[in-house]
Amino acid sequence: MRYRIGADIGGTSVKLGVVDEEFHIVEQQKLPTGGQCTSQGIIAEIITACKQLMERYSVEAVGIGSAGLVNAQTGYVLHAGNLPFVEEPVADKVSKGLGIPAYLDNDANCALIGEHAAGACKDAMDALILTIGTGIGGAILIGGKIYRGHNYKAAEFGHFIIDRRGEACSCGLRGCFEQYASATALIAMTKERAAAFPESLLAKRAAGQGIDGSTAFAAAKEGCPVAEEVLGEYGLILADGINSLVKLFQPEVIVLSGGVAVQGEDLLCHIRPNLIRDAVVRTTTLSGSGGLIGAALLGTDYGR
Ligand SMILES: [Zn+2]
Repeated sequence: MRYRIGADIGGTSVKLGVVDEEFHIVEQQKLPTGGQCTSQGIIAEIITACKQLMERYSVEAVGIGSAGLVNAQTGYVLHAGNLPFVEEPVADKVSKGLGIPAYLDNDANCALIGEHAAGACKDAMDALILTIGTGIGGAILIGGKIYRGHNYKAAEFGHFIIDRRGEACSCGLRGCFEQYASATALIAMTKERAAAFPESLLAKRAAGQGIDGSTAFAAAKEGCPVAEEVLGEYGLILADGINSLVKLFQPEVIVLSGGVAVQGEDLLCHIRPNLIRDAVVRTTTLSGSGGLIGAALLGTDYGR
């Protein structure tokens, strides 16, 4: 059996795993990065972890998914929000350190490659993904190939504008989709509604366990009408964005991944009533590992 290693570099940790020819993760580990880490430190940790795995597995190549602006052709991370990479030749350094080919791409592209190979859009030729977390990332598959744009900035689906007088966004524009549809936005809506209805189950759950992206889902399951209302509104906003993307691209399927998407049907049931006819939406079937599997497939036909 031949294996590939996939690494998914996030803000707080690197998820790294060995993937077999049937797209199963056979071994996985988490390397903490933390705010204080340097780019050299992160790259060195990846190399060390890979070397240990290569003692036990016949590894053909390593693929790395990183947040931020990534040139998949040269293997450089150009810059990456809360990661310490600036014009960093990550793929080259990892390849030289290990003596096998290494590939690099944007984390959302990797997530879509993973879903295309083994997940929610398996066998689809035209598909989109929205990765819903602190912000919203996106990627697009056209005719079976990832479309990256001439400058690798394509598919920033978190940043199309839905309200030009709306909330200021970190990208410098106002009213971007992610300001209303990210997990951060859901948490803000949950907080606001819990404060407005202090007697609600939602407020009581929030007071007891704090608020995160799952609070409204948990309260709704217990029958809280205020939580239902929050999710109804959130589903409507997500559907607005999804409908616009369907009008633009007519994908066979739009995949939702990220923390909120693990809610599966509990999320989809709030989106579906507001979708236009051609929209097909599914949540990830790879439970948070799509990015790692997709990274491992960089350099294969799936990753092109
Ligand atoms: Zn923006």
